[in-house]
Amino acid sequence: TLKIGVLALQGAFREHRRMLESLGAHVTEVRLPADLDELDGLVIPGGESTTIGKLMMDYGLRDPIRDWYEAGGSVFGTCAGAILLSRTVLGAPPQFGSQPGLDLMDMTVQRNAFGRQVDSFQAGLDVSGLDTPFPAMFIRAPVIEAVGEGTEVLAQYHGEIVLARQGRLLASSFHPELTRDARIHRLFLEMVEQQTRNVQAEVARS
Ligand code: GLN
Repeated sequence: TLKIGVLALQGAFREHRRMLESLGAHVTEVRLPADLDELDGLVIPGGESTTIGKLMMDYGLRDPIRDWYEAGGSVFGTCAGAILLSRTVLGAPPQFGSQPGLDLMDMTVQRNAFGRQVDSFQAGLDVSGLDTPFPAMFIRAPVIEAVGEGTEVLAQYHGEIVLARQGRLLASSFHPELTRDARIHRLFLEMVEQQTRNVQAEVARS
């Protein structure tokens, strides 16, 4: 059984938990650095990225999450979670200057990029690897403006990148946990499984 943590500081963490459990993962809520022990994967939910980022600093979680990732962990960030994963964030409130985040994924995101009138909407999204469109919920969503070389674009909406993967990192601007469609979560669990297989193979070789 894969052990997946859901960062539970603020935002839609319960919905992620439910969806991951429906796929057979063992899910725990992460609030303290010690909660990262033994995890194979971590989900950073949507919510308010400045709030989650600030709480992550206050709870002393930022560096432990980075260290845990460096040691082989896999991370999935949705919406605010995707913002927290990225190296460069545009559109943060001025008082934050540069907003606190994990600074892990080689991409630039623009916050609240779909404009004020259309705060939220649903769209059928073509996702590479899925044979039918995914019902994606966008809520004050960011877009991924640019990605680095090692980053694979998995879905676009009207030319804007909304799902991307870089090795053990997955980021979506939309909320796959708010639908009944578990395919994006399954994709993440497959990434995590692949990683645990790689590690086991490495251990066996040495
Ligand atoms: N607009 C939010 C932010 O910038 C993200 C919205 C969401 O996670 N649904 O943090």
